[in-house]
Amino acid sequence: MEWKKELSTMKPYKPGRSIEDVKKVYGLKEIVKLASNENPYGCSSDVVEFLTSSTMPFEIYPDGHATILREKLAEKHGVQEEAILFGNGSDEIISIICRALLDNNAHTVMPSPSFPQYAHNAKIEGAAISEIPLVNGQHDLDAHLAAINEQTKIMWICNPNNPTGNLIPHNELISFIHKIPSDILVVLDEAYYEYVTDPAHVDSINLLERFPNIIILRTFSKAYGLASFRIGYAVATPEIIIELNKIRNPFNTNTLAVAVASKALEDDIFIDKCRTLNEEQRKRFNMYACENGLHIYDSQTNFVLIEVPCDADDATESLLTDGYIVRSGNALGTPGHVRITIGTEEQNTGLFKAFDRLLNENR
Ligand SMILES: *Cc1c(COP(=O)(O)O)cnc(C)c1O
Repeated sequence: MEWKKELSTMKPYKPGRSIEDVKKVYGLKEIVKLASNENPYGCSSDVVEFLTSSTMPFEIYPDGHATILREKLAEKHGVQEEAILFGNGSDEIISIICRALLDNNAHTVMPSPSFPQYAHNAKIEGAAISEIPLVNGQHDLDAHLAAINEQTKIMWICNPNNPTGNLIPHNELISFIHKIPSDILVVLDEAYYEYVTDPAHVDSINLLERFPNIIILRTFSKAYGLASFRIGYAVATPEIIIELNKIRNPFNTNTLAVAVASKALEDDIFIDKCRTLNEEQRKRFNMYACENGLHIYDSQTNFVLIEVPCDADDATESLLTDGYIVRSGNALGTPGHVRITIGTEEQNTGLFKAFDRLLNENR
């Protein structure tokens, strides 16, 4: 077969190690997975109760419009219902955006290292990509602007950035968007929005009126604790959403996902609690790094990127033998560091013990 030539240099997505796999290979009973930024507190108890008490017409196709969730989200964000697009995770929305705007005459600009799906999907469409190196974990916004050319269709911003966790100061973000030509789409991927505690941070949905060329991505996979259901959404002007909707598969979100996400949305207390607990635990990581003279990035998310005393793959392997799954920076473009999802108090205490051993072995 003659595959798209772009595929020749690409590889299928390789998932992180599963809990079951690690148990088997390392002969461990207890595994703590701190590798994919899932919510260590699970999800709202309202969701659990709903799932055990309700029945659904499984034989009926889902509501492709996701009406019940759409109504609640539109109200929550104070936007029109037509300003929202749902995806099978925000991952799918990233691919829809690329499919809608990119081809082999197009160019797109993104930070690096950052979330790999921007580059992955842009490559599939054959677009030219400018990857702009981070500076101290932060977007180099001036360099992003300087990379714009006649063919530029999409500017990607990951805020806070995965894998560094850094948040762009709001005034810098505004002056950046202000300088971008209005026919270029600016994607603000805010998968960790609910974890941000910086008091100066402003909800970017407020920017939609001023900047009609932005699209904001949010997800139920992280703070809402619903990663297994695969549901995320975008907010933009109805004019943008109409175009993206032409590409969206008719039943891209399923009945159960829409139902549980709309339940989860009612429980603000759960999200507030997770944000607070996460911030307390994030402080412990910052203190741990400081006490041990390890570099750590300034995170506003539920993960930290922290320095290790040896090769990152070796460090990851060493933590695995103690039952802690983390992500090696070698795979993330941040060698010398590992990315650790911030767990519960107990999980983190255990992780620090395993990390102590790693440090002792490498002294
Ligand atoms: C996890 C993550 C996503 C994808 O989330 P899904 O909604 O589960 O597809 C998108 N962007 C960033 C930066 C992420 O970390």
